[in-house]
Amino acid sequence: MKKHNFSAGPCILPQEVFNEASQAVLDFNNSGLSILEISHRSKDFVDVMEEARSLALELLGLEGKGYKVLFLQGGASTQFLMTAYNLLQKKAGYINTGSWSDKAIKEAKIFGEVIELASSKDANYNYIPKGYEIPEGLDYLHCTSNNTIFGTQIKEFPTTNSPLICDMSSDIFSRQLDFSQFSLIYAGAQKNMGPAGTTLVVIKEDILGNIERQIPSMLDYKVHISKGSMFNTPPVFPVYTSMLTLRWLKKLGGIAAIEEQNEKKAKLIYSEIELNPLFKGFAATEDRSMMNATFSLVDEDLKETFDAMWSEAGINGLNGHRSVGGYRASMYNAMTMESVAALVDVMGDLERKA
Ligand SMILES: *Cc1c(COP(=O)(O)O)cnc(C)c1O
Repeated sequence: MKKHNFSAGPCILPQEVFNEASQAVLDFNNSGLSILEISHRSKDFVDVMEEARSLALELLGLEGKGYKVLFLQGGASTQFLMTAYNLLQKKAGYINTGSWSDKAIKEAKIFGEVIELASSKDANYNYIPKGYEIPEGLDYLHCTSNNTIFGTQIKEFPTTNSPLICDMSSDIFSRQLDFSQFSLIYAGAQKNMGPAGTTLVVIKEDILGNIERQIPSMLDYKVHISKGSMFNTPPVFPVYTSMLTLRWLKKLGGIAAIEEQNEKKAKLIYSEIELNPLFKGFAATEDRSMMNATFSLVDEDLKETFDAMWSEAGINGLNGHRSVGGYRASMYNAMTMESVAALVDVMGDLERKA
């Protein structure tokens, strides 16, 4: 039986994407070849790459606005250093909203001065800092839209004249935003788009080329852009699967349609966390993530019973990250309302039983 997969990443993908991707492993486009064995220079694959790149721009509403799309390797973690390598000449500002921001800051410090403009580390990152000052003249300002581990999400992005860079690994394509406020967006595929192995980078081309240092080719955005995201062998299968997910999303009605579903799912789980006296939420109410709901039992003695109950109900991946503890329900785009309802039912059953 297919499980209700609440895993934070790698994680759930749409069932029809699994079906189509597995078929392509056996025979891609009736070519008599597997997607895993075709040349990345073949027309079939070049078409996949081009469709993935243009679907990403289309869904984000960024067509014709000077943006380029890349599917790179090395995960979002490589973007922590690649952004700084390509864009940090003197000083950059960072908003520290969780472990991933913290890691981005650590990498950027290798390349220049990093100003941590705000941080919620003092409260184990259970809220999003607000009302901080942003100096003029930064090379860029970096933020993390959704804090996967802590279950917080930025609702209002900082305004600045400097290029805004955002790590959207865990909420890309999940909600409507004015994406043109960002000069660079990056997202590891494995949270809301495809399997691990590729990272989406959407970049406004005019922010590049102002840096004095030499950049190794593999880490140079301009090199990847000039080669149409095919400078070296791209991760063929993750790009193909991501393209299928983007097609699925477009067919569904795009980001507006999925946002509506995501709001409903989040409402269902958060109202249970609020109303059920056995549970308490981790994140500050106004900053709660639509993608990752973090919560814990008020009485830890119920842990064994609760764990057995959700496991019995076919639920997977509910344990919280070790730095927060408790539980985390990750509800990415492909998660159905039925799966969230299954979890909420178990939480209600526990209350009736306890
Ligand atoms: C998972 C995650 C990362 C790390 O991604 P990798 O692809 O494993 O390097 C970075 N940022 C955020 C917000 C994440 O959720």
